[in-house]
Amino acid sequence: MFGIWGHKKAAEITYYGLHATQHRGQEGAGIASSDGTSLKLHKNVGLLNDVFERAELEQLTGEAAVGHVHYVSHHDTGYENVQPHLFNSQSGSIALAHSGNIMNAHDLRGELEDEGSIFHTRADTELLAHLIRRHGKKVTEEGIASALRMLTGAYTFLIMTENKLFAAVDPFGIRPLSIGRIGNSYVVASETCAFDLIGATFEREILPGELVTISGAGLESTRFAMREQRHLCAMEYVYFSRPDSDLNYVNVHASRKRMGIELAKEAPIEADVVTGVPDSSISAAIGYAEETGLPYEMGLIKNRYVGRTFIKPSQEMREQGVKMKLSPVRGIIEGKRVVMIDDSIVRGTTSIRIVKMLKDAGAKEVHVRIASPPIKNPCYYGIDMSTREELIAANKDMDAICDSIGADSVAYLSPEGLEKAIVKDKTINQGICNACMTGNYPVKVNTGHTTYLTN
Ligand code: SF4
Repeated sequence: MFGIWGHKKAAEITYYGLHATQHRGQEGAGIASSDGTSLKLHKNVGLLNDVFERAELEQLTGEAAVGHVHYVSHHDTGYENVQPHLFNSQSGSIALAHSGNIMNAHDLRGELEDEGSIFHTRADTELLAHLIRRHGKKVTEEGIASALRMLTGAYTFLIMTENKLFAAVDPFGIRPLSIGRIGNSYVVASETCAFDLIGATFEREILPGELVTISGAGLESTRFAMREQRHLCAMEYVYFSRPDSDLNYVNVHASRKRMGIELAKEAPIEADVVTGVPDSSISAAIGYAEETGLPYEMGLIKNRYVGRTFIKPSQEMREQGVKMKLSPVRGIIEGKRVVMIDDSIVRGTTSIRIVKMLKDAGAKEVHVRIASPPIKNPCYYGIDMSTREELIAANKDMDAICDSIGADSVAYLSPEGLEKAIVKDKTINQGICNACMTGNYPVKVNTGHTTYLTN
């Protein structure tokens, strides 16, 4: 997500901000703008470059904008789910963009429908719009805060009216959102790499349970919920975010390199070269090589024009994606004992193909080292991890995983090693969520009422 307030080129800057965060979602893109009296929207399925030409950006007039790139979770594909969503009424318009997952959405929808609300999409974003409207015709900070208090889950929201931009983070800070400045204007983004691309400076993270209001009066902050111990998604560091982003004041590349260092301490192996699966595993591979003293080599090359396999919606598309996106470098790996560093194993499909690829290219041995703990549990907080049945580590022990992916050995980083690599200073609330690895869900998962755990 990206938002900007108070800039003559709001839509254009939002386009560039979204461009920097395209890796976070490739199924759709949209930008809504405000000229102070009305909101305009353009969105569609596809990559940002496919959705926007100059003509579309020029129609998005005004000095404020919010944008979104759509990541498919819970199979919410199709135009109707692409964000931002725009809602018009006689009392004014509202544009909403959202990241994460509202766990009590089903129950809240039922209540609202019983009261007469009609939903046009399955998106959680629309749910928030109905909840805000329930608190009055005009969109106010109090109305948004009351609506947010009704939600359970992991989320960040950008909410824009004709004359205000609001930004909010869930009480546990599971999903990231930062504030920056470009000249006299404020910008808000899911990742700080967006600030670098547009020449903005980082100001601060939006805190767990914080609602920020940006308008002609400047920036104001309020709490809509008690501040909890932060549980920022560990997979943001492991896989999802760009290495040049800082999340909760910790650089992603540096944390991945430390994951590689910790992994080398926990699971060393006699080998000739270390290689990483591009792009997200390269930082960890460099750390592993540095710690072991083994040479780091580029044993796998990525075809830059194919999307990420993990976030494609269907298994068939995922398998096709692996074949298309990686190639082994025969001259580097032939006759060698290779340590192959990967950031994570979800279903195992990618690992099977990569190990085979390396062996077919002449690797004498392939030792798989994973720079995060085994993923054994689904994510209920907005990352599409699939069901427990599909997760290889939930169903197989280490030997069986090694056999099924065809490796000579397999080892994972421990949860303690992961935490050591990410958390620099617990006293400044740098806790992480690692529920998909440990089963310790910070927001308790329940089919009925949802209970908060404050461990
Ligand atoms: S369960 Fe895993 S993927 Fe989901 S928020 Fe927690 S760490 Fe991230």
